[in-house]
Formats: sequence, structure tokens, C-alpha cells
Amino acid sequence: MDVTERATALEAYAAETSACTRCRLAEGRTQVVFGVGNSDADLMFVGEAPGFHEDQQGFPFVGQAGQLLDTLLAGIGLTREDVYVANVLKCRPPGNRDPAPDEIEACEGHLFRQIELIEPTVVATLGNFATKLLSGKQTGITRVHGQEQTTHLGGRQVLLYPLYHPAAALYTPAMLKVLQEDFHRLPELLGRTLTAPEPEALPVLVPEPATQLGLF
Ligand code: URA
Repeated sequence: MDVTERATALEAYAAETSACTRCRLAEGRTQVVFGVGNSDADLMFVGEAPGFHEDQQGFPFVGQAGQLLDTLLAGIGLTREDVYVANVLKCRPPGNRDPAPDEIEACEGHLFRQIELIEPTVVATLGNFATKLLSGKQTGITRVHGQEQTTHLGGRQVLLYPLYHPAAALYTPAMLKVLQEDFHRLPELLGRTLTAPEPEALPVLVPEPATQLGLF
């Protein structure tokens, strides 16, 4: 897909999703918070769920955590226009409670479709919910933050990069420092080529005849 086709397909999917009733969160929301940013981005962030301000304004990460995300991006020379930002859940859980397993299950198809359309090379998960969903593992963010892992998402190979959630780092200076350090590895990860080397580029290993190895 070229840039225009990708943007059009994503817009069409956002329009379709705006009337979603796959789970109970449809009843209490102001609107679906689909996602925002560059539909052609190499780097995609996935947070947890919209909060009060996101539900009101219709865009992810517009509150305090979003301001920190902007600052962290600026620290590596990027802006929101360079990346795409979405959440595991597209609707606000009441009182900002944790996403429920059945809500995640109902909503995950939207996120996987977004990844399929955007085709990012690096997906940075913010916090436990996004990390566990996209890694398919129950290992928590404290153990896996800053450790990239190759995985398959949206029908392609991507580099999954778990990060602390900016909201958690807002009030914990030690966590903020770690988040900044982890963020600084993003340019290197984006520069990595994810395609497997061509077979002819691999060294050809010619086995030694058994006689020369002294086996006979
Ligand atoms: N926290 C999230 O995980 N997502 C948002 O959109 C805002 C805050």
C-alpha cells in the first residue's frame, strides 16, 4: 500500500470502529478513541486505555501522561507527527479502572487491524496491558522493559519494545529515569533492518571430511 492508500484504509477503519458495540464500554463512553498520528509511521506506541481527557477529546494521550510522552519523543528528536499512537482499549473504562480481560479480547481485533494497516517496524508498548497482550506472555513490564523482542504482529515481523507507562513514571523519578534511558534506544531499534539476510549472504559451512577430523 502506498502512503495515501494506507491513510485512506485507516480512516475507513476508524469510521467503522466509531460505532463499535463489541463490549460494555460502548455504553459509558463519550466517543471511541481510535488512535492518532502518522499512518505511515515506522514507530507505533500502544498504551492502555483512554482516560477522562482522551474520552472527552477523542485522541489518545492528551492528558499529563501524553505531555510526558511528547517530552520523551522530543528527547529523541521526534514529534507526534512522526509516530502513531493507539491504545489496547478504544473506549474509556469507567473511573479509569483496569481493562477487564473480556474487554481486551473484544477490542484486540481493532489494534491488530491498526498494526496490519500501519505496518510499523517497531511497536513500543507502554505498560503492562499492552506488553502482555502483544507479547502474548504474562511477564510483567518491570522484568521486560527496555528489552526488544522480535515477534509477529499484523501478519509481519516487528520489533516489540516494552516501556514503562508514562503515567506510572510521572510521579516516580527513578522510573522516569529508566523510561528516558529506554527511550534513547529507540533510534537504534528503528535503524535496524528486520528482514532476514539473503541465503547467499550467509557463510557457507563446508563440513570437514570425517578422515581429516581424525574420526577414522
Ligand atoms: N493512558 C493511556 O494508556 N492511554 C491514553 O490514551 C491516556 C492515558
